[in-house]
Amino acid sequence: MTPECIFCDIVNGHTDTEVLYETDDLIVFKDINPHAPVHLLVVPKKHIRSINDLSPTDDVIVSALIAAGRHMAQESGVALSGYKLVFNVERGGGQMIFHLHLHLLGGWKR
Ligand code: 5GP
Ligand code: ZN
Repeated sequence: MTPECIFCDIVNGHTDTEVLYETDDLIVFKDINPHAPVHLLVVPKKHIRSINDLSPTDDVIVSALIAAGRHMAQESGVALSGYKLVFNVERGGGQMIFHLHLHLLGGWKR
């Protein structure tokens, strides 16, 4: 756990955030400021700053994030209509929370 990391606080149950899905390695919850009808965040329990900070042994975590994103797309009913899975990386890439997370965005009208 890293001090003053809001996503570590959520992972550790220190907020009232509703966890929609959980495994040994990650949790999924709704984005507080959604940019799409369905906007979920898939967050590893391990504090990793960004994609840049992954070590080779973290590959399994990235696979798990994508698998959970796919699972939650199905659960949210957007798998067939389509969705985006997005990692923002560092400030220039739009990252504002420096605890790795995968955005699942979907549910737009076609
Ligand atoms: P980033 O820009 O770092 O890729 O995305 C961070 C996301 O986390 C933003 O979309 C923002 O709305 C969301 N967010 C920031 N703080 C909280 C929070 O306390 N709770 C939830 N559920 N989402 C948050
Ligand atoms: Zn953290």
